[in-house]
Amino acid sequence: MSKILDGKAVSANLRAKVKTQVEELSAQGISVGLAVILVGENPASKIYVANKKKACEEAGIKSFEYTMDESTTEEELIALIKTLNAQENVNGILCQLPLPPHIDEQSVIAAISPEKDVDAFCVSNVGRIMIGDYDFLPCTPAGIIEILDYYGIEIEGKNCVVIGRSNIVGKPMAMLLLHRNGTVTVCHSKTKNLADITKNADILVSAVGKAGFVTADMVKKGAVVIDVGMNRTDGKLCGDVCFEEVAEIADYITPVPGGVGPMTISVLLKNTLTAAKRQNER
Ligand code: NAP
Repeated sequence: MSKILDGKAVSANLRAKVKTQVEELSAQGISVGLAVILVGENPASKIYVANKKKACEEAGIKSFEYTMDESTTEEELIALIKTLNAQENVNGILCQLPLPPHIDEQSVIAAISPEKDVDAFCVSNVGRIMIGDYDFLPCTPAGIIEILDYYGIEIEGKNCVVIGRSNIVGKPMAMLLLHRNGTVTVCHSKTKNLADITKNADILVSAVGKAGFVTADMVKKGAVVIDVGMNRTDGKLCGDVCFEEVAEIADYITPVPGGVGPMTISVLLKNTLTAAKRQNER
C-alpha cells in the first residue's frame, strides 16, 4: 500500500512559513496585498475566490476583492487592472479564470504588470520560467514540487511522465521537473500507446480532467503518482487516478481531495509574499 502524500500537511507548513514572513515585513511597516478579480457568476470560481480570500486573511495578507458583472467589457476589466498595477498596496493581481467568452483571456493576462502576475501566466513570466530565471512559478506545478521536496522524493535522473499539456499545469509541470534534472515525457490526447509510456514513469503526474483515467495497469510498481485532476462524479470530488487500485502498486500517491488542491492557494500566497518583497527592494 502506498504512502499518502498529504497536501494538507505540506500546505499548512508552507502557509505557516508565509505567515511568519508576512509578520516580519509588517514589523518593518510593509504590508502584503493581493487583488482578486472575479467576473461573472461561475459557481466554482466563486468558491475558489472565497477560499483565496480566507487563506489571505489567515496568512495576514490583505485581500482586495473585485466582483464584476458578467456583462463587463474587456476594456472595463483592463482599466481596473491598470489601476491596480499602479496601486502600491496591491502586490499581486489575480484574475480568476475562466472569463466570460466575450473577453479575451490572453489580453487580460497581458495587461497585468509582470511583477504583480502572481499566477505566472503572462508571456514574460512564462519565458523567464523557460530559461530558469524567475520570481514566480505557476501555483499548481510549483505546489507539486513542494510536495515532492517535503517528502524527500528525488527528481534528478527519474523518468517523469506528465499527462496533459495545458499552459497552466502540464507544460509548466514538465519544465519544473526538467529544471530539477528529471527526464521528462509529456503526453496528450494524440499520444499513442499511452500506457507503455506511463508504465515507465518513476514519477507520474496526471493533469487530464477525467475521472478514472489512470488505472493500475498504467502504473509502474513503486512509482510516485501525483493526481492533479479535479472531477465531480455524482457530486463527489475525485481525481484522474483510480485511487484504490493504484495505491496498491505505487510507493507514493496524492489523494483527491487533500493532495495537490490545497497546495495551489498556498503557492499563490508564497508568490504574493515574493512580489511584495521584490517591490519593496526597489
Ligand atoms: P485542460 O486544459 O483541459 O488539459 C487537459 C489535458 O489532458 C490536455 O493537454 C489534453 O490533451 C489531455 N488529455 C485529454 N484527454 C487525453 C487522453 N485521452 N490521453 C492523454 N491526454 C489527454 O486541463 P487543465 O487545466 O490542465 O486541468 C487538468 C485537470 O487538473 C482538471 O481536472 C482541472 O480541474 C485540474 N486542476 C487542478 C488544479 C488544482 O489545484 N488541483 C489546478 C488546475 C487544474 P490535448 O492537449 O491533446 O487536448
